[in-house]
Amino acid sequence: MGEPQPNRNTPLVDRRHGQPGTVVVVGDVRFGDNKVVVIGGPCAVETPSQMARTAAQVAAAGATMLRGGAWKPRTSPYDFQGLGAEGLAILAEARRATGLPVVTEVMDPRDVETVAGVADMLQIGSRSVQNFPLLREAGASGKPVLLKRGMMTTLDEWLNAAEYVLAAGGTDLVFCERGIRTFEPALRNTLDVGAVAVLKDLTHLPVIVDPSHASGRAEYVAALARAAVAAGADGLLVETHCDPDLALSDADQSLGPDQFTALVASCRAVARAVGRDV
Ligand code: PEP
Ligand code: MN
Repeated sequence: MGEPQPNRNTPLVDRRHGQPGTVVVVGDVRFGDNKVVVIGGPCAVETPSQMARTAAQVAAAGATMLRGGAWKPRTSPYDFQGLGAEGLAILAEARRATGLPVVTEVMDPRDVETVAGVADMLQIGSRSVQNFPLLREAGASGKPVLLKRGMMTTLDEWLNAAEYVLAAGGTDLVFCERGIRTFEPALRNTLDVGAVAVLKDLTHLPVIVDPSHASGRAEYVAALARAAVAAGADGLLVETHCDPDLALSDADQSLGPDQFTALVASCRAVARAVGRDV
């Protein structure tokens, strides 16, 4: 008889009694350790110079990982869809220039091999959280996975989505709370800060927060980021742009370099107040 197989009563994502948190390692970055990880970069990779400038700025401000979408899930098929494989090459160049690992979204199970060939971490976006073939393919790729919460996903559904990745052989998964859809229209979404605290209890895997998609507005991103750190988030995913007004997607929520630098400093103060660091 081999090891008992995981089943619905013993999910791999669950934190067993007394089990310490799992640290997910991506290059030099450690999710779930004392240091709160800050990921910065544009919503979408647009041009080599946009990515190079933005990457240099976030690295200088203290980000330890880069983001940027090459394949973009857009509400309208007529909006900018991302550069695809060309975007991956631009991300690879930004990694080379900064030394920082990169995370980027994969939307189609058929693209997992291509994206995994370049990215250090695969992002599965909100709209794909229950795309089960994609979850399986990402899990089988062996790459760390950043799993966003869907805008209408309960914690139980989200945990089960992560279980698909782990059941397919994935071991390194980080959850990313990015706001849920509620009755409140003032912001793009409603950041579920409570979900961070609850999830840290339910799972041994790290939990980060994306205050950019949660707020939809640049002027509120830092406040949500500080709340996330205070609630115990293991990291932040923040959309930044060298020239936010010109961003081809999510311009309203993109931070310029000075705003991003200020965000990192204020989150560092909060992190230190709760016994961590940035
Ligand atoms: C993104 O990170 O650019 C993105 C599309 O996020 P979400 O899936 O959370 O909407
Ligand atoms: Mn975006």
